[in-house]
Amino acid sequence: MAAKNTQRNNNEITLLAVSKTKPSEDIIAAYEHGQREFGESYVQEAVDKIAQLHAYSDIIWHFIGPIQSNKSALVASNFDWVQSVDRLKIAKRLDSQRPEVMPPLNVLIQVNISAEEAKSGCHPDEIAELAQFIEQCTHLTLRGLMAIPAKTAVTQVQVQYFEQLQTCFDKLKTQYPHIDTLSMGMSNDVEAAISAGSTMVRIGTDIFGTRT
Ligand SMILES: *Cc1c(COP(=O)(O)O)cnc(C)c1O
Repeated sequence: MAAKNTQRNNNEITLLAVSKTKPSEDIIAAYEHGQREFGESYVQEAVDKIAQLHAYSDIIWHFIGPIQSNKSALVASNFDWVQSVDRLKIAKRLDSQRPEVMPPLNVLIQVNISAEEAKSGCHPDEIAELAQFIEQCTHLTLRGLMAIPAKTAVTQVQVQYFEQLQTCFDKLKTQYPHIDTLSMGMSNDVEAAISAGSTMVRIGTDIFGTRT
C-alpha cells in the first residue's frame, strides 16, 4: 500500500516476517503462504525453532535482537543474516565463529538513529569504522544498515528518523556500492519507512498478531 502511494515497486521491498515469541506452527503457516524470510530476536528460542524447522531448508533466518558476546557463536552458526551488529567486538566474534562450511554471514550495521540512551545500535559517526572492519572479514558480507527509531505516532517525526538513516545509507553506498539493504519499518511505522526508502520491512504484529 505504502509502496503504491509513493510509486515504488513492491519487488524492491523485502518483507521480513518477525516470528519472535510465536510457535513454529505459525512460521509454517506463513511459509505455506509463500513467506521465506523470518526474523527472530531471542537466541535460544530461535535456535530451537530453526532446529524444529530444519526440513524447510529454503527459509532465510535473520537475527534482529541484541547480541550478547556469550551468544554470538550460536548466532554465527544458525543464521543467514544478522541485522544487529553495532560494535567491533561482536563483528570480530561473528567472523571468527562463522563455520567454514557455511557461506559468509550477511550483516547489517544497527544504527541508533534517534540517539536513545537505552537502545542498542552504534552512533552514526561509528558506521564508517565498523563498515571498514566488516568489509575485510572473510566470513561476513556487509549488506547495509538497520534501525529501530524511538516510538512516536507522529508520522513526520517517523519520516525524519528514517530519512536520517537513508542519508547514512547513501553515504555508505558511495564507498561500498555493493550494499543493497536498508532495513527499516515495523508494524507501526512501515508506511513512513517505505516513503523514506526502506528496502526491507520487519513486520511482526501485523502478520502474527499481538505478542503476549
Ligand atoms: C519485534 C521487532 C519487530 C517487529 O515489530 P512489530 O511492531 O511487531 O511489527 C521488528 N524489528 C525488530 C528489531 C523487532 O525486535
